Amino acid sequence: MYDAVMIGSGPAGLSAALYTSRANLTTLVIGKDRGALEKADRIENYFGMAEPISGCELVENTKTQARSLGVELVEDEIFHITWNGHFILEGKNGTYESLTVLLATGTGRKTLKIEGLKELEGRGVSYCAVCDAFFYRGKEVAVLGNEDYAIHEMSQILPVVKSAVLLTNGRELKTEVPEGVQVIREPLRSVDGTERVEGITFEDGSSIAVEGLFVALGSAGAMELARKAGAFTEGQNIKVNERMETNIPGLYAAGDCIGGLLQISTAVGEGAQAAMSMIPFVRRQRKEK
Ligand SMILES: Cc1cc2nc3c(=O)[nH]c(=O)nc-3n(C[C@H](O)[C@H](O)[C@H](O)COP(=O)(O)OP(=O)(O)OC[C@H]3O[C@@H](n4cnc5c(N)ncnc54)[C@H](O)[C@@H]3O)c2cc1C
Repeated sequence: MYDAVMIGSGPAGLSAALYTSRANLTTLVIGKDRGALEKADRIENYFGMAEPISGCELVENTKTQARSLGVELVEDEIFHITWNGHFILEGKNGTYESLTVLLATGTGRKTLKIEGLKELEGRGVSYCAVCDAFFYRGKEVAVLGNEDYAIHEMSQILPVVKSAVLLTNGRELKTEVPEGVQVIREPLRSVDGTERVEGITFEDGSSIAVEGLFVALGSAGAMELARKAGAFTEGQNIKVNERMETNIPGLYAAGDCIGGLLQISTAVGEGAQAAMSMIPFVRRQRKEK
């Protein structure tokens, strides 16, 4: 079990890891790609840049720095977080356990403009299969998604529901679909229903009847992971206090996923602040054990 796991190997997650590792906390950083900086060709507004460097170079330099300070880094995509005395993170390649977790997954900038989707949240529209699948036992449901994350959600749902259909909303299908699951690639026009979800209408005018819609488009982003862990969100941001604490003890968030300036300098500062909160939390836990 780790003392600290950072989900995200961008400026916020790596910055936090430098501090926790130097404070003697066993630290793991999990990232699935290079985050927002992957597309940044030239960074010239960050402290200490004698010459501009690319975002990728900046991330790779910091990973080298982190490794040299004892931080463990893995490439994986986290799908789910639960708590059972400590945090358990389920990824595509493995499961990780930790006393504290930092959500530093950046901002997905995912806005789904589908009529009825927002209005029916909690009334048939769900963002967590593990949490809600049970409510749909014996019913017909749909999963909105096109990558491995959608299949992870589907695997939680299939054993309980009558049938589940995968909706890619016009996106390319980047995963293998379980045998017998129907795939509809047409973009969605609306999620229909007055009190609860009753069906889905597509752009071509066709429709299907379902009682539940599980949203799992792309990969699990900050909002999805926060919701699964029970952390409060506000709009597209995770809600934290000035110590980067969420409402869940031991769970922190920093960087673009908490909103604000959305710059490297702020992400680095918030990561450091989160670490300053994680360190005494872990030390208290160790004393209690
Ligand atoms: C094109 C572009 C140019 C920019 N230029 C500048 C600039 O010049 N100066 C500046 O200060 N800022 C710039 N920014 C903004 C800056 O990149 C961000 O503010 C900063 O990277 C935020 O850091 P972060 O750690 O919060 O998130 P990110 O850097 O986005 O990192 C998120 C991390 O989370 C990981 N992740 C996400 N979901 C999961 C999951 N489910 N499981 C595992 N890992 C996951 C990703 O793989 C990634 O490692 C630019 C942004 C863009 C898009």
